[in-house]
Amino acid sequence: MLKDGEGAGEGSERPDVSVARHPRTYGENIYVYPVLSRRARGISIGINLNPDKVCNFDCIYCQVDRTTPPAIRRVDETRLKEELLAILLEAKGGALYQRPEFRTVPDAFRVVRDITFAGDGEPPSYPNFKEVVEDVLAIKKAAGFPELKVILLTNATLIDRDRVKEAMRLMDQDHGEFWLKLDAGTEEYYRLVDRTSIPFSKVVANIRDAARLRPVVLQSLFMRVRGEGPSSAEIAAFCDRVREILSGGAVSLIQVYTVARRPAEPYVAPLPDDDLDRIAAEVRRRVPSVPVETFYSDRMS
Ligand code: SF4
Repeated sequence: MLKDGEGAGEGSERPDVSVARHPRTYGENIYVYPVLSRRARGISIGINLNPDKVCNFDCIYCQVDRTTPPAIRRVDETRLKEELLAILLEAKGGALYQRPEFRTVPDAFRVVRDITFAGDGEPPSYPNFKEVVEDVLAIKKAAGFPELKVILLTNATLIDRDRVKEAMRLMDQDHGEFWLKLDAGTEEYYRLVDRTSIPFSKVVANIRDAARLRPVVLQSLFMRVRGEGPSSAEIAAFCDRVREILSGGAVSLIQVYTVARRPAEPYVAPLPDDDLDRIAAEVRRRVPSVPVETFYSDRMS
């Protein structure tokens, strides 16, 4: 599940970490990478459990570069843990914020907001996902960040697996968050934008089941496809799916956002701010019980 939306800072110099430039490697790191995140409104420490770039979706807006072969395919958990600890200790001592890529970031955003399982594919597809979750929770405590939030970004297709549910329970006990992708209201549009053979009904059911155990965040990316944004009927159907999830489930936030970096397909473009605002307003009107936040293509808020 791609971690989206790392926005540029507002300093006079353009920071190296920006909307347009967002490597999932950091220095010599392979698995752990700090990024400036629109949606975290600060620095988010990403963990990439899918360096092989394999995903069970093929989103038309995906910002993982699959035109080049992966530099590495397997996860070395020992190294991953070392990388995470080193970055957290850098943040603790302040050295992280002195790195060239963060030096010009405005003060309000120069703070580590979370650790996020994201990367170049679906984190729950990693066979040892639960063990890595355990390790990450222990490392952040050992590094002096017991309250730092751990977030799972996922397309929700695998969260009905027992081992993944166990990992999610561990995260629940540590005020973790689950940001679940819902990009459509109809099977047809879902197939157009997420390009997978997994039925849309399964995604909605998995989100609903997860939302019955704890409040979840919906991350909903809308875009122009060959110049066209989603239709009014699609947004109405999207709201119907949210209401399905709310029947017995809880949603703490809907993130309405758009493409921030180069998408997989050239016919995909970000939605202009006004269009994003119109969608957000319509979602608020149809689903008034859930807060909606918008995240624009080219800035932090
Ligand atoms: S779920 Fe979509 S956006 Fe996320 S990594 Fe897979 S193909 Fe890319």
